[in-house]
Amino acid sequence: MSDEKVPGAARRFESVGFSEIVQVRNRVLALLAAGHRVWRFEGGEPYMPTPEPIKAAMSRALARNETRYAPSSGVPELRRAILEKVRRKNAIPADDESPIVVNGGMHGLFAAFATLLDADDEVLMLSPYWTPIVDVVRYHRAKPILVPADEAQRDGLSAALGKRLSPRTKLLYWNSPTNPTGQVFSRAQIEEVAAFAGESGIALISDEAYEDLIYEGEGHVSPASFPGALERTISVFTLSKTYSMTGWRAGYVLVPERWRDAMRTAVLYSINGVSTPTQWAMLEALTMPADFLEDAKAGYRRRRDALAAGLRAAGFELETPRAALYLFPKIPASLGSGSTAAATALLDTRRVATVPGIVFGPEGEGHLRFSFSVSEETIDGGVRALRTL
Ligand code: PMP
Repeated sequence: MSDEKVPGAARRFESVGFSEIVQVRNRVLALLAAGHRVWRFEGGEPYMPTPEPIKAAMSRALARNETRYAPSSGVPELRRAILEKVRRKNAIPADDESPIVVNGGMHGLFAAFATLLDADDEVLMLSPYWTPIVDVVRYHRAKPILVPADEAQRDGLSAALGKRLSPRTKLLYWNSPTNPTGQVFSRAQIEEVAAFAGESGIALISDEAYEDLIYEGEGHVSPASFPGALERTISVFTLSKTYSMTGWRAGYVLVPERWRDAMRTAVLYSINGVSTPTQWAMLEALTMPADFLEDAKAGYRRRRDALAAGLRAAGFELETPRAALYLFPKIPASLGSGSTAAATALLDTRRVATVPGIVFGPEGEGHLRFSFSVSEETIDGGVRALRTL
């Protein structure tokens, strides 16, 4: 049979990219396979392994034969622990039925957009942004409306967002602390965003992946903690960063009642629930003492400061971010200003792997993203390789 008789992939994929960060990773893997040493800063994962008690909890769940289908929205014990955590730590007045356990933050976000978006809806989001969001919005045939983060900082969030509001605006994707810039918005700013959503009659999807990785200053604030915001907000959490569980695919969302059936359906037909033993490990993570996190944060802070100092010495201009896992310096003039060319040059000539800023939106151009969540040996080696720039 000729190939022409085989249908193509669905048309919706025509406007959807495949993570350019993954393409960088593939080039790095090819260099490694060819025997080169590469200083790898292109990733975005915690530098330390999953804490032992979480691993032990999964082993115990397996020994108890917790290996069958669980309710597709999550095991009741875990959903109760999630409620306890979000009420206490995030001050979100979530009701008993609001938590749904999902397959990591990415899946929680995908299901949240699937729950809310129709074709031609508009989605407000600050730029630079975490790359996949634009693609997920486009997958649903909706339109990302980018709001430059610098403008929002200068003119105020409601002014910058309000300027781009239209009758088609369905929701605002909100992310604080942010990837890639590590910006943490203040309580007053987040209150303003929650009020803006209320006054504009739009929904909020709040991506709180980095809530626990704030190294100094004011802590994390959840938009759904403000009066009236709960009923228009889907809050998306992940265990990936806080608990070094990127490979477990573990997260949870809080969904207001009016969208709950739709979101449960999206989760049911996409994954029919997170792996049961993983859910018991998640329960341990959410209920174990949090002191390991203070040690982890001291490690992040040390790495961040060492890499920031090294990059400055090599001619990069940057602000030290208060949160997340990344530095987002300006590209030195000697490397030109195009971020794709600069990242390629660093990889080819210094064997230093970074992510070009353009991947995070037009407002990311002129920058490179370096993860500081790497070994101290990588920081030393990478900084030495860059010193001769
Ligand atoms: N949101 C942001 C802003 C992220 O950077 C990430 C991970 N890089 C996620 C969500 C999702 O992470 P995961 O799917 O591992 O939970």
